Amino acid sequence: MPDSLPQVSPDVAKGIGRDLSIYAIASVIVDVPTVRKHKLSQTSVTAQSYVIVTVRLGNGVTGVGEAATLGGPRWSEESVEAIKANIDAYLAPALLGLRADRFEAAGMAMDAAAKRNTAAKGAIESALFDAVGKTLGVPASALLGGALRDSVPVLWTLASGDPAQEIEEAERKLEARLHRTFKVKVGALAPKDDMARMGRLAAALGDRATLIVDANQAWDETVSARCLPQLAEMGVALVEQPVPAWNIPAMARLRARPGTPPLLADECVFDSHDMLAVAAAGAADAVSLKIVKHGGLLGVRKVAAVAEAGGVALYGGCLLESSVGAAAHLQVFATLRELAWGCEHFGPQILTTDLVTEPLRFADFHLYLPAGAGLGITLDEAALRRFART
Ligand SMILES: [Mg+2]
Repeated sequence: MPDSLPQVSPDVAKGIGRDLSIYAIASVIVDVPTVRKHKLSQTSVTAQSYVIVTVRLGNGVTGVGEAATLGGPRWSEESVEAIKANIDAYLAPALLGLRADRFEAAGMAMDAAAKRNTAAKGAIESALFDAVGKTLGVPASALLGGALRDSVPVLWTLASGDPAQEIEEAERKLEARLHRTFKVKVGALAPKDDMARMGRLAAALGDRATLIVDANQAWDETVSARCLPQLAEMGVALVEQPVPAWNIPAMARLRARPGTPPLLADECVFDSHDMLAVAAAGAADAVSLKIVKHGGLLGVRKVAAVAEAGGVALYGGCLLESSVGAAAHLQVFATLRELAWGCEHFGPQILTTDLVTEPLRFADFHLYLPAGAGLGITLDEAALRRFART
């Protein structure tokens, strides 16, 4: 929390506006309740846990970043407890005194201090972009090539597992003109039950909405070979990570089968080397970009560049971030030349309370890039205190 950061001394403050050195880094775990249960193949959550990172520069400016997880170390190996521990013990000490505007150098210092830990690194790097942007009076997007758009189409995820509830939830989103693309989480049920559920959703919503399916690695190649053509038949536009992350050859074989809908790579692409392997294998039509996987906003751009070079389309992924993390994603998504599949940053809307004073704007099926310097958001200190884990 910023309150817990040491104040900049009068000596240091003399250089206000000029001293971009990293003066202090603090982290706090928060658990924010969600409006409904969110069920994936490997876990289900009723509260979303984040590590909020604040970085104070020598000029007195504070930046904020967020690392999101999903139900402990189940979606990937990082838990909020591990993220906080590694930030406090290894990543923060490696950065103190370095210049915040030397983002690549900060990334190299973090890589030297800790392997992987991409969510932890992404939260710190987001806070650096926020602090430097605020110092210079420019949005983080301006430091990443500049914004090409001020809003991104945003989907909603259906993940209660109960089709009647899901249809009703989707109808409310359509009615409010918030979302018209819906991603359905499958894999927690038996495949035949998920297919029946998808059949009901497609029949109810199909002509008014676009449906996407995410299996979160739940199926093997045989089950995928059976289910994918059925999903295509129902009009499903995209299927995300049907098989385990390691099985890139299976993704390629499935993709080559007639009747397979477009495939989206998620858990199989963390860094640009993974992206190169997936593109070279012809294993995906699109890739889900996430700060937690790619280690920061620069990492998102690196993976996106390899995807573009390999003819793989871009999809703006999320891990149920609050407006803090969603804003960081929007800053970099806005700079990508083609974001063919839009984004899925509905996270701020699934929380009972957001962590910023002014939530991001959702309107007309789009999510808007916040105006303002840095990430464009202001941390809600009261909400942070309320949900901070003690
Ligand atoms: Mg996914």
